[in-house]
Amino acid sequence: MAHIIDGKKIAAATRADIAERVAAFEKENGFKPGLAVIIVGENPASQVYVRNKKKACEDVGMYSVVIEMPEATTQDELMDKIEELKNASAIHGILVQLPLPAHLDEEAVIAAIPPEKDVDAFHAQNTGKIMIGDYDFLPCTPAGVMKMLEFEGVEVEGKECVVVGRSNIVGKPQAMLLLHKNGTVTICHSRTKNLAEVTRRADILVVAVGRADFITGDMIKPGAVVIDVGMNRREDGKLTGDVDFASAEKVAGMITPVPGGVGPMTITMLLENTLTAAKKYINK
Ligand code: NDP
Repeated sequence: MAHIIDGKKIAAATRADIAERVAAFEKENGFKPGLAVIIVGENPASQVYVRNKKKACEDVGMYSVVIEMPEATTQDELMDKIEELKNASAIHGILVQLPLPAHLDEEAVIAAIPPEKDVDAFHAQNTGKIMIGDYDFLPCTPAGVMKMLEFEGVEVEGKECVVVGRSNIVGKPQAMLLLHKNGTVTICHSRTKNLAEVTRRADILVVAVGRADFITGDMIKPGAVVIDVGMNRREDGKLTGDVDFASAEKVAGMITPVPGGVGPMTITMLLENTLTAAKKYINK
C-alpha cells in the first residue's frame, strides 16, 4: 500500500514557517504584507475559495481585504478597481478570482494586474519568466506540488515525470518546474494516443485533468509517486480527484488523497507569494 502524502500536514508546517517570516517582516518594516482579492458575482464555489484565502492570510498574520463586486460590473469598473489597488501601499498582492462572469474579458484583466503584485503568477511576464527559470512568483498549485515532493524527499532529477493536462495554470507550469529540477518530462493531453502506456512509464505522475477516477491503478507504474491535482464534485456532493484512489494506492509508492492533498498547498503558496510581493515592494 502506498504512503499517503498528507497535504494538510505539509501545508500546516509550511504555514507555520510563513507566519514566522511574516512576523519578522512586520517587525522590521512596521506593516503587514497585504493581499486584495477581487470577486465578481456570486459563484458559490468562488465565494468559498475567497473566504478561505482571506482566513489563511489572517491566520499567518497578513492583512487581507476582499472586494466584492456585483455580477453586472463592467470591464471598465473592474479595470478601475485594479488600477486603484495597483497604487495602494497596503496592498502587495492582487488576485482576481476566476472564472469571471462571461461578459468580462479575463485575459485583459490578467494583463492589467501589475506583474510585481501578480500573486497568482498568471500575467504573461510571470509565466514567461517561469519558462526561463528566473521567477519571482510561481503559480500556486504547481508550486504546492513541488513543495510536497520536496517535503517527502522525492528526488526529481533523472526521473521520468508525466504530467497529464496542459492548462496554463497547472499542467504547463508543472511540467516546467519538473524540468527545472532535471526531470525527464512528458506532457499528455486530450489528443495523446495510448495514454496508459505513457503514464505507466512515470516515476512521478501528476494528474490535472478534471475528470473523476480518470487514472486507474493499471495505468500506474508500481512504486510511482502519484500527485492528484483534480478536484471534482460527485453527484452526492463529495469532493474527489482525477485518480481512482482505491486501485491506485495498491500500486503507487506514494499518493496524494483528495481532499487533503494538493488543495491545502495551493493557498499556502499564495501566502508565500504575497510575502514575496511585500518584500519586492520594500526593495523597490
Ligand atoms: P483544464 O480544464 O484547464 O485542463 C484540463 C486538461 O486536461 C487539458 O489540458 C485537457 O487536454 C486535459 N484532458 C482532458 N481530457 C483528457 C483526456 N481524455 N486525456 C488526457 N488529457 C485530457 O483544467 P485545470 O488544469 O484548470 O484543472 C484540472 C483539474 O485540477 C480540475 O479538476 C481542477 O478543479 C483542479 N484544480 C485543482 C486545484 C487545487 O488547488 N487542487 C487548482 C487548480 C485546478 P486539452 O488541452 O487537449 O484539452
